[in-house]
Amino acid sequence: MLRTAAALAALTLSGLAHADAQCSVTIHGTDQMTYDLKTIAVPASCKQFKVTLQHPGTLPKNVMGHNWVLTKKDDLKGVTDDGAKAGENNDYVQPGDTRVLAHTKLIGGNEEASVTLNTQTLKKGDDYVFFCSYPFHATMMKGTLTFSG
Ligand code: ZN
Repeated sequence: MLRTAAALAALTLSGLAHADAQCSVTIHGTDQMTYDLKTIAVPASCKQFKVTLQHPGTLPKNVMGHNWVLTKKDDLKGVTDDGAKAGENNDYVQPGDTRVLAHTKLIGGNEEASVTLNTQTLKKGDDYVFFCSYPFHATMMKGTLTFSG
């Protein structure tokens, strides 16, 4: 309730409420190794789409780190395997990995990170997958992103 009110106030203050209201989303990654969203729908009218990841927990990122990574559906396994090798210093994302369409940095409890996605990289009707690439988190922390009209 409070969060919604604050978000609305922030949007109103920014003066961008109308155009940007649906071209962004906030997702939470918790101490219970979950996201609070299973699907994200990006409207085709959005040229850019901003994803804000918040970690409302208390555990540090080396214990319960979360990021938000977007790939095509079939790339999840390869990207998480290579991300695990890349390690925490690289936010569990292999540097320069072209399969990664967008990603935030890795955060711990009480932190926030965001990324703005250029929707030209998305194709209408395709299914994309978003997940946390911290080792083994994607088994629970994943969802589907779609781009449609
Ligand atoms: Zn995680």
